[in-house]
Amino acid sequence: MVDIRPAQQGWQVLCDDRTEYHGTSLLLATGNPEPQWPIPNRFKDSSTLIRTPWRGDWLERIDPTAAICLVGSGLTAMDALSGLAERDHQGPISLLTPHGILPPEQVGWEPGDPFLWPDTRRASDFLHVAFQMLRAGFWEEPEWQQRFSALRSGISTAWQQLPVEDRMKLQRRAGGLWSLARFRASPQTVEAARNMRDRGQLTLIRSALKSLESTRSDGWQLGLANEVSLNADAVINCTGVGRDPLIHKLMVTGRLTPLGKSSSPAVSPGLQVISEDGSPCDTLFCIGPATALALGDVMGATSVATQAAGFARSLHTVEK
Ligand SMILES: Cc1cc2nc3c(=O)[nH]c(=O)nc-3n(C[C@H](O)[C@H](O)[C@H](O)COP(=O)(O)OP(=O)(O)OC[C@H]3O[C@@H](n4cnc5c(N)ncnc54)[C@H](O)[C@@H]3O)c2cc1C
Repeated sequence: MVDIRPAQQGWQVLCDDRTEYHGTSLLLATGNPEPQWPIPNRFKDSSTLIRTPWRGDWLERIDPTAAICLVGSGLTAMDALSGLAERDHQGPISLLTPHGILPPEQVGWEPGDPFLWPDTRRASDFLHVAFQMLRAGFWEEPEWQQRFSALRSGISTAWQQLPVEDRMKLQRRAGGLWSLARFRASPQTVEAARNMRDRGQLTLIRSALKSLESTRSDGWQLGLANEVSLNADAVINCTGVGRDPLIHKLMVTGRLTPLGKSSSPAVSPGLQVISEDGSPCDTLFCIGPATALALGDVMGATSVATQAAGFARSLHTVEK
């Protein structure tokens, strides 16, 4: 699907093969967009420059002695490390991590009572509440993970009360750390990473990618934010950063209205897309990661499934 147009009743949907469909209501549920490089990059995807590692097929084409650089330090990087360990990769691995850390290990926590969020109207109040809840203990302890989970239970309501600028500020400043704590790594991937570090094969570099150049020897030279450069035979993009082409197009053409000065769509708690005049549209809906700035913690499969179930219930009620 490449575009939508308002029709007499509902929406006309246009596809890239020129077919068109009509629906009285339309739900945008396009999920996580394919990752893009976090810097402008003129080089094409190849067996040594992997933009989308999610399919895992790149592992089959990597020279087992290659020096590899993983850009990013979330769950995609952990999956890449685990895949390389499974294939008994022998070459050195560097991993660029903005905070100098890897995700915590998921441990066996038990669900506790949900946390009752106070009224928070500013990013600073929101951070203060989260900090008070999480400052004691260590994030790989069951008790800490239980508290984190309790904090998450009412977070979307608290999030939606914040001004958009405050939500954007929180995403910029704390979004990375929040994702690490939220999407914890499996014990198997943590063990693979630990073994590689212990034997000196894996090095964490606290920096971000700033530039990428090819070298004469068919390798890559990476310029880092801390002015250092690094050479690698293969570079794997583990940043997960992507831009949904359809959502982007609908924002540019004005079908979707941006939330404040962001590039995310304005969506009501009832999942209705907000029109330019501020009114919720009763035939155009959106769920999933594209609604995260508007609605809060909706990246994981269970949160998206909860949105989908709520949407199905609301349709059922309307039809009755
Ligand atoms: C690598 C990875 C690992 C993850 N692991 C976990 C995990 O362990 N636990 C967890 O809770 N969550 C995980 N998530 C998050 C979770 O999978 C997603 O948030 C969830 O699947 C999103 O569901 P969705 O239905 O919104 O989107 P998706 O499941 O991504 O489905 C969207 C669909 O829409 C299609 N689509 C996109 N654009 C268009 C278009 N223009 N026209 C037509 N079709 C289109 C896509 O091809 C896709 O089929 C992971 C995400 C990723 C990327």
